[in-house]
Amino acid sequence: MKSYRKELWFKTDTRRAYINITPQVKECLAESGIREGILLCNAMHITASVFINDDEPGLHNDFEAWLEGLAPEKPYSRYQHNGFEDNADAHLKRTVMGREVMVAVTGGKLDFGPWERIFYGEFDGKRRKRVLVKIIGE
Ligand code: ZN
Repeated sequence: MKSYRKELWFKTDTRRAYINITPQVKECLAESGIREGILLCNAMHITASVFINDDEPGLHNDFEAWLEGLAPEKPYSRYQHNGFEDNADAHLKRTVMGREVMVAVTGGKLDFGPWERIFYGEFDGKRRKRVLVKIIGE
């Protein structure tokens, strides 16, 4: 069995962002040479997510509005976590949007449904953060 591991780095200019990282993940898969197996992709930070959904800007605005409704960034004082930090909302948003995705690898390709794309969801950006890609198979 082959095993492949890579860290992808991201730094957003804004506090929150949704980035389609499918091209980078596909590059990892090509580099791995694995044709049949499983790909895991996870955020390595507790204020960021990796999730699968549609690459459609309206939907990304809907995510933003929905998450701000559930866990508004401000006022910072509404959260017990915000003593030395101001990112309690980012922890909560990450929990809702998820830590990782797992994708089947078939014939050397991501075995996706028609509109599935992998996204990095940043909820406390403006600093360098990592996503892990791990692929096992043969
Ligand atoms: Zn925190």
